[in-house]
This record gives sequence, structure tokens and C-alpha cells, in this order.
Amino acid sequence: MTALKAYAASSKEADLKPFEINRRNITPDDIKIDILYCGVCHSDLHQVRNDWKNSQYPVVPGHEIIGKVVEVGENVSNFKKGDLVGVGCMVDSCKTCSSCKDDLEQFCENGATMTYNSKDKHLGGHTFGGYSESIVVDKDFVLRIPENLDAKAAAPLLCAGITTYSPLAHWGVKKGDKVGVIGLGGLGHMGIKFAHAMGAHTVMITTSPDKSSDAKKLGADEVLISKNEDEMKKHAGSFDFLLNTIPVGHDMNPYLNLLKRDASMVIVGAVEPLDPLHGGGLIMGRKSIAGSLIGGIKETQEMLDFCGEHNVVSDIEMINIQDINEAYDRLQKSDVKYRFVIDMKSLKES
Ligand code: NAP
Ligand code: ZN
Repeated sequence: MTALKAYAASSKEADLKPFEINRRNITPDDIKIDILYCGVCHSDLHQVRNDWKNSQYPVVPGHEIIGKVVEVGENVSNFKKGDLVGVGCMVDSCKTCSSCKDDLEQFCENGATMTYNSKDKHLGGHTFGGYSESIVVDKDFVLRIPENLDAKAAAPLLCAGITTYSPLAHWGVKKGDKVGVIGLGGLGHMGIKFAHAMGAHTVMITTSPDKSSDAKKLGADEVLISKNEDEMKKHAGSFDFLLNTIPVGHDMNPYLNLLKRDASMVIVGAVEPLDPLHGGGLIMGRKSIAGSLIGGIKETQEMLDFCGEHNVVSDIEMINIQDINEAYDRLQKSDVKYRFVIDMKSLKES
């Protein structure tokens, strides 16, 4: 075991503070990664605040990890020392159930091991995430980062990227489709970039009129202010697909009204109860509402390769780990353009 520096929250009311954690020594199947950058996902904030009622403290968040391989076990042939790699929301799974066999480890029937706040099979207790100096990960859960991408701006691809790419791909978004992305935050800004890169007519649906010009720079063809009822009426019945990233429970009925016949809205943001839905909104038009969770490892690599080909990365604000609590306050207020990424040098040199 190695003791190393991290940042943790000790309770749902507490600020994140310096904290020492242990990492296991590598097994033959493991890769040890020196962490260079870590993105700050809204899920980090939800789990630190125990919004989903399952947090285990201390919480060391972080599942948008970019780093360099420093050590590999003897069974590792896919990576070598010095490689630039990524780790997302999962670090292991059973590898034998039908979901794992279908490359959908996020739905592992025996429970995937999430990067933090999950049962730690090796050391006992629970797993600790990327707000730390290094991490040890099973070789099958490590991803290749295309060399042409800016490494720090690639960090959010590991969660915000795959969470938006996967539903667009699964529901078959294609050139010419009218696609709405609801909520311009970390996930939403990647949703716009991917839908645009896939050739869709892309509409940013936002509560924040002041984000309009940014939305267009990110690739939106149009901006729809969801609080403006007249504008919402003009777009009624016109969307082929909606990707909903709103991070809290909300009234889905006005968004459902935007869908065409047979079209779907996919929820990725609200991991909590939603307001009552009017059945008529689904029945009149044979519409669907579905959910989606990150993506499997194979698809995450496919998304990273797509980003390499199309030069897609996140728009980021770099911070030092010492500024993390202020960053959380701003994230809570939807005041980030459009993802915070921690420069982990600030932790190592502290
Ligand atoms: P974020 O950066 O905070 O962005 C969320 C955006 O939603 C905000 O910028 C805001 O955009 C809009 N919004 C916020 N509160 C709203 C409200 N009450 N009503 C309407 N719109 C609201 O968060 P994120 O990192 O993108 O994460 C979004 C959610 O996805 C979080 O709940 C996170 O836990 C979840 N998540 C899910 C998965 C998955 O696999 N399903 C993966 C990662 C994250 P506007 O200002 O444009 O309105
Ligand atoms: Zn995330």
C-alpha cells in the first residue's frame, strides 16, 4: 500500500479538505496512473452533499481523470509506462454477467465498481476518486487518449463526454435531425458539440439567456429559452430527439411537448424524483422518455477516438485543488464555462 495526498469531504455539510488515502500495490492486472488533471462533475457535488442518499464518507470525488502510466502489472499488454491515459466513472466490474459481456459494464448485474463511493474489493472500505495524486485501476478500465487532443481539456470527456455521446449514438441521431440539448453546463456543452459533429440541426434549450452567444460558438444552430412560453410554442412538435441534462427534479411536460411523433427525450441529469407527468403528452404522438447512464468502456474508447478525429474537447476553466470549494459554489449556481478541471500539480506541490 502507498499513502498519498487527496482532498475529501468528511460529511455533507463539510468543505473539501486535505486528506490522506491509501492505494493498493499493483496486482498483475493493474495499471498505476499518476494523475495530471481531474474534471469536476456535478455528480461530485451531488455525492459530497449526499443528494442521492448513498454517500459514504470521507468522499474523495473525481471521475474525469487524465494521467500518465507509471507502473503496469505483468498481465498488462495494452498499456506501457509513459502512456497518456484516462479513467472515467468505473474502475472494475464482474466481467461475466450479460451486461458486461455486451460491453455495457455500467449496468453490471453484480454492480460495477465506481471510481469513488463504491465497495473497494481490494482494500475493503470504499473507493476513492481522482482528487488525489495517483490511482490504481484494472487494465480493462483504462482508456487511450488521442495524442492530438489537449490533455487537460480531454478530462471531461471521461464522464460528460461519454454521458452525452452514448445516448446520441444509441438513439441513432443522424445528419439533419433536429436535436435539442437541455441545460448548458458540463454535460450540455458536450451534447451540443457532439450533436453538431454528427451533423444534426442543434438547438440549445436553456434557462439562461446570457449563455446564448456561447451556445452558438459551441455549435448550436439555434437557442431556445425554456422560460419563454411563446418561443416554446413555436418549437412544439418539431424535435427528433431531446437530451435532458437538468441536474434536479423538474417538470418534463413542457419539454415533452417539443417532441415530434415517435420521438424520444432521454434523461441523464435528474437522478431523483421528477414532477408528475401528464400521460396525454406521451400518448398523443407515441412519444418516449428514457434514461441513460454514462457508457461502456468500449463505447467510451469509441467516443475518445471520435473526439480525436473531429478535434472535440471540452471548454474548461482550470483551477487549483485549493479552490475546489469555491468552484462547487459556482457549479451550484450554474456559473462555470463549461467545466472546471483541477490541475493536480497543485495537490502534489502543496
Ligand atoms: P452542470 O454543469 O451544473 O449543468 C447543469 C445545467 O442544467 C446548468 O448549467 C443549467 O443550464 C441547467 N439547470 C440547472 N438547474 C436547473 C433547473 N432547476 N431547471 C432547469 N435547468 C437547470 O451539471 P453537469 O455536470 O452537466 O451534470 C448534469 C447532471 O447530470 C447532474 O445531475 C449530474 O449528476 C448528472 N450526470 C449524470 C450522468 C449519467 O450517466 N446519467 C453522468 C454525469 C452526470 P442552463 O443555465 O443552460 O439552463
Ligand atoms: Zn460525472
